[in-house]
Amino acid sequence: MVIAWEDGHRSSYSGESLRWACPCAECRGEAGSPGRLARVQSLEADELRVQNVALVGQYALQIAFESGHSTGLYTFGLLRSMCDCPECRARKSAT
Ligand SMILES: [Zn+2]
Ligand SMILES: [Zn+2]
Repeated sequence: MVIAWEDGHRSSYSGESLRWACPCAECRGEAGSPGRLARVQSLEADELRVQNVALVGQYALQIAFESGHSTGLYTFGLLRSMCDCPECRARKSAT
């Protein structure tokens, strides 16, 4: 999946990196209890493949995986902070 940002920046993401970053309550946990991603070491292949991406308002993408998991809302702020291109990596290590 590739996002072209308004400032001309381009970010690409693998399904795997998106799945592990899923911000939903089930994956992340809530109210102090660990979520699913904290309990598993690996995920099935169909959990790592993006099936559909939908824009939610002006601020986030809802990403559905082939496993049927689609509760994660990835804000653009989160997605931008996940960008792993050389330019962003250099900026993160500089701060
Ligand atoms: Zn999730
Ligand atoms: Zn970047």
